[in-house]
Amino acid sequence: MSTYEGCPQRYKFRYLDRIKTEEESLEAFLGKRVHEALEKLYRDLTLTKLNSLDELSALFETQWERAWHDQIRSVRKEFTPGHYFQLGIRCLKDYYETYTPFNQGTTLGLEERVEIQFQNGERIFRLRGYVDRLTGFPNGVYEIHDYKTSSTLPSQSEIDQDPQLALYQLGLMQRWTDIREVRLVWHYLVFNKELTSRRTVTDLEGLQRQIIQQIHQIETDAIYTPRQSGLCNWCEYRSICPLWKHEARVEALPINAYLAEPGVQLVKRYAQLEAQQEELARQLNRLETERAQLDEAVLAYADRAGVSVLSGGDDELRIETTDEVKAPTKRENPQAWMQLTTFLKHAGKWEEVSYLSWQALARVLRLRLWAPELLLTLSKFVSRTTKRQVRLLPKRPTAEGRIRSPS
Ligand code: SF4
Repeated sequence: MSTYEGCPQRYKFRYLDRIKTEEESLEAFLGKRVHEALEKLYRDLTLTKLNSLDELSALFETQWERAWHDQIRSVRKEFTPGHYFQLGIRCLKDYYETYTPFNQGTTLGLEERVEIQFQNGERIFRLRGYVDRLTGFPNGVYEIHDYKTSSTLPSQSEIDQDPQLALYQLGLMQRWTDIREVRLVWHYLVFNKELTSRRTVTDLEGLQRQIIQQIHQIETDAIYTPRQSGLCNWCEYRSICPLWKHEARVEALPINAYLAEPGVQLVKRYAQLEAQQEELARQLNRLETERAQLDEAVLAYADRAGVSVLSGGDDELRIETTDEVKAPTKRENPQAWMQLTTFLKHAGKWEEVSYLSWQALARVLRLRLWAPELLLTLSKFVSRTTKRQVRLLPKRPTAEGRIRSPS
């Protein structure tokens, strides 16, 4: 479920397509080795054997070497496998020194399989999980322990929202009836820090509803969209993921093959076109600004010279003056709009102006198409402005029908 939350596509690869991959991050490798060492420590303890810290470290080292394989990926290039190995040794040492002689309760299970079952209407949901360590006390208190080797420490509120151990609690409460209290315990080994949380029956009921909703969401997902995030760096499916597959394939090519690869060429061409488009848009913007300045200069010149046509070469600039009518809109001035529409409807003119088209109103006023009293009322509703526009046209023929040469 947390895989789905992190990335639906990764969930699909792992749980629907069931794609096995050898790829593993160094962090995941470290986590598994530390878990193995702690499991061995407590397993031997149930048979009364207390391994020394040296024995535990030696076991960790043996397992590290035995399990090492060439598909382990280092995401943080500045840290070598040696750094992670030393981190594992330090986690075990800190843990050992904090909890020795390991007499905090009775170990009831290690890597213990827990079944969780709940019902919604007709439907029964079954979930399965594995508890790192399960501890019991004579007074009916149980502890669910989970080891973490992550390099970030969650806040208490994040821990209190975490569903994983709470689900295990549900499973335990369904398994045994003498449970008086359950403590959820996370060991953040990198920080040698223990975080705990407790869940009430109401919390667990809310969690069940949340889980049912999430199951429904997973079951009805038809796309399983890849979700790009920092997690991608640690994802074992990166080389087959639609978001990264092409990059992984072409990056491995020699430079010439890389440059000739059709996908690479498409990206490069696309980037070129986009850059050209952006440059053209910038040029167009500059031209429009200059054109607006030119319009102003032309109008000012025409005003000073008292002309409405400027002649130059084979062209001329003609200044056209139009009357612009602006009627109130429903959004800007609903009251005025309502009065105007009422007036037009009463006058039987509503259809003629096409539901208050400004152009239609302007035409009525310009050509004085209605009775004078109607035009008078209409003019009270609208504002009129004069708009002047400069247009470039071919030079008009002279009186002799010729076009004068600019020379
Ligand atoms: S690489 Fe990222 S996007 Fe792709 S499956 Fe993995 S987590 Fe999801």
